[in-house]
Amino acid sequence: MTQGTTHPAVSDGATPCWHALPADVVLLRLDTHAALGLSQPDVTRRLARHGPNRLPAAERDRWWTRLGRQLHNVLIYIMLAAAGITATLGQWVDTAVLLLVVLVNTIIGFIQEQKAEQALEAIRNLLSPHAAALRDGERLDILADNIVPGDIVLLASGDKVPADLRMIGGKGVRVNEALLTGESTVVDKSVEPVPADAAIADRRSMLYAGTLVAAGQVVGVAVATGQQTELGRIGTLLEQVRSVTTPLLRQIEGFGRWLALIIVLMSAATFAIGVMWRGHPPSEMFMMVVALAASAIPEGLPAIMAITLALGVRRMAARHAIVRHLPAVEALGSVTVICSDKTGTLTRNEMTVQRLVTPDAIYAVSGIGYAPDGGLHRDGQPVPPDNAIREAARAALLCNDAQLHLKDDTWDMQGDPTEGALLALAMKSGLDPALEHAEWPRVDVIPFESDHRFMATLNHDHSGQARILVKGAPERILEMCADGSGLERWRQAASECAALGLRVLALAERIVPVQQRELSFADMQGGFRMLALAGMLDPPREEAIAAVAHCQSAGIRVKMITGDHPDTARAVAAQLRIGNGERALTGADIEALDDAALERLVPEVDVYARASPEHKLRLVRALQKHGEIVAMTGDGVNDAPALKRADVGVAMGNKGTEAAKEAADVVLADDNFATIANAVRAGRGIYDNIQKFVIFMLPTNGGEGLVVVAAILFELLLPMTAAQVLWINLVTSATLGLALAFEPPEGDVMRRPPRPPGQPLLSWFFLWRLIMVSVLMAGGALGLFLWEIERGATLETARTMAVSAIVSAEMFYLIASRHLHQSVLTFEGLFGNRQVWIAIAACGLLQLAYVHTEPMQRFFQTAALSPDEWVRVLAVGLLPALCVELEKIARRVTGIGQPAVMPA
Ligand code: ATP
Repeated sequence: MTQGTTHPAVSDGATPCWHALPADVVLLRLDTHAALGLSQPDVTRRLARHGPNRLPAAERDRWWTRLGRQLHNVLIYIMLAAAGITATLGQWVDTAVLLLVVLVNTIIGFIQEQKAEQALEAIRNLLSPHAAALRDGERLDILADNIVPGDIVLLASGDKVPADLRMIGGKGVRVNEALLTGESTVVDKSVEPVPADAAIADRRSMLYAGTLVAAGQVVGVAVATGQQTELGRIGTLLEQVRSVTTPLLRQIEGFGRWLALIIVLMSAATFAIGVMWRGHPPSEMFMMVVALAASAIPEGLPAIMAITLALGVRRMAARHAIVRHLPAVEALGSVTVICSDKTGTLTRNEMTVQRLVTPDAIYAVSGIGYAPDGGLHRDGQPVPPDNAIREAARAALLCNDAQLHLKDDTWDMQGDPTEGALLALAMKSGLDPALEHAEWPRVDVIPFESDHRFMATLNHDHSGQARILVKGAPERILEMCADGSGLERWRQAASECAALGLRVLALAERIVPVQQRELSFADMQGGFRMLALAGMLDPPREEAIAAVAHCQSAGIRVKMITGDHPDTARAVAAQLRIGNGERALTGADIEALDDAALERLVPEVDVYARASPEHKLRLVRALQKHGEIVAMTGDGVNDAPALKRADVGVAMGNKGTEAAKEAADVVLADDNFATIANAVRAGRGIYDNIQKFVIFMLPTNGGEGLVVVAAILFELLLPMTAAQVLWINLVTSATLGLALAFEPPEGDVMRRPPRPPGQPLLSWFFLWRLIMVSVLMAGGALGLFLWEIERGATLETARTMAVSAIVSAEMFYLIASRHLHQSVLTFEGLFGNRQVWIAIAACGLLQLAYVHTEPMQRFFQTAALSPDEWVRVLAVGLLPALCVELEKIARRVTGIGQPAVMPA
């Protein structure tokens, strides 16, 4: 390698045609090494020069644009117009209050939008892609951001290409370049150069950033990173977490607009009645109806719901479920079936070989974890490894990509746990991995894929021998083996192992002529000799057992879909209490069924074994035909269609491919089934919170408006001035509304059946609550006002009391709104959400200032209240909340409007 050769693309800006140059020339010009990669100091230098391998995020709107957006709202226009009119009439107090309301509303909206965005931003960063690269001769898992030109990048099927790469090695590589070329068919790639004038779609020797490896294994050298990539040049922006909306939010926004229209019309009617029929002065009436509209229109509704959603999503992320598409949150709340992978999701994916079956004996293997401590036993007695054991162990070791390192007294495993377990077995059998690899170097490989369920390597020794070693699912390997008579015995041994819940792999080999240096599927047709079966334990996760039970009590059916043996699947399902232990449908069974027959079977069968990604897709469809809302997990590149089709596609964060993550709605940072159950719980909680907020906001707004309308209609003294109406709106919407977004899910959320999808938010129960609370609030305040006037109170005092009664009614009702159906008259109910009390304290202090400080008294024409008067105010304020609690009791007793709750 010529040290110090400058990279022309760097030095003079002219990019060479990497696709047209031979691979070795590319390496030379990028001053890198195919087997060693770059050195760390070199990487640091290149990183400083080229910058991180990242595309700039979409530019966010400037703060003033976002602030301006808050003003773009019919209500704000009305209030600004009203402020203009009151100013020309010289009613300065009203003008000031109107402007204050506009200002506070704008600031709250701005902060809320900011908060929602920050919550999503934090989640976006959790999904930064990783890539494998060679550095100083070692394969490292690095952040894709840190890739520099010259890096040797290693990719496998399902990976996203992190930078523009010139392919320098690999096999069977097929890439989906839809992002770049719009063509959704996959393209074969190879190391051979192509003509310099080839169009991007024809550059077979290149892999472009942002595209997906659909099959094969790639070794490539990064030739362009970040904005220098083709993707960067065409200016495509990285996918952002989409905007803060879901079908439910859109439904509510639409509802909000209708409501606003109705309120504006009603206000106009009130104005007409007040002026023409009741003879109020038009200027006073005008101000009054503007205030009325301002307090009745639920302008904060969409914003607070967006926050509820964003906060919930952030809370889910803290518990390892990263939501990529917001509508999934809603769907999560109504999931009726979860189809889960087994290995790693329901089980721990910590494999230990416990049983080894050779042609002439069955051994128990001692030791736990990946530490190669332990050995083989027969009838309780340790046995030294014989020839058969050693042959099997060698195949297990050589046909293997895992590595075991002793780090600080513990054995650290890198790679696939199945292979780690086999490596530990080989070491327990006395083999030294370094020696074996030196003696039998690998010449070629067919990597493991779930689709073909085996891995094979071609190894040569130094004395002119060559053999193909293969390991994989027993049925597949037995198909490759020649001797007819022994096969039945192996099959039986495999079934026995699987029935114990062990994952079974078969090991076999074939001697081939030494001239053979390449391995293809044609070599795997037959002529192999069985060496052994290895049965490995992968215990279920404790938390998954509990989570399955929680899901079942929440009316959610859990189905296990695994690539493993049917007997293993059944045994593990029984430990997890999935299904009735009787039936497991296999991939082959599914293929034999037509869609209609499959649809008939899916409701009963909960365990699916030897299933491939296509089967998952058919299962989702069949379940959806039954009206089920399906969550489906997946990790492989071929799982993407099933994940997309499912109502909630769930990808594994650790073991999942980028392809699966991109297709998913939710990514599990810890690959754990329990996290899905938690996410369902959180999804239900978020939906509840949105409901709680609506059920809090609509009646309180209704009450504020009703009190004035009633006074006008019944020709009474107005219980509050326009400015005072606006004050109520100001003080309560600035403080109380948001608190419910912080509600934790209620205790019984996982004992209720799933919410039927498409169920309208505004049910009869909502309407009833809206009317009851509005009437109680307005009636209480108006009654108190009239009573106080009757008893000789001044107008100022009576009005102050009416306003304070409404504000305190909202504070108490906020507490009652914490639970939709359960009583809040418990310690948890009263004090379970700190935010509620912070909101109440803030609102209370502002209200005290309104009543008792001199400037406010002058501004709003209020009067200080005596303790006696406060007692009466609070008693009236308590009325709606108390009635709501009584209503809850009544509904519990009669069962009307109660959700079905399953027995604990
Ligand atoms: P799940 O879909 O629940 O994650 P799984 O991980 O068992 O199930 P696959 O990884 O597709 O499914 O494995 C299917 C079968 O392929 C296994 O039962 C095993 O026999 C075989 N197998 C798994 N890993 C390897 C490997 N690294 N090399 C060879 N064969 C393997």
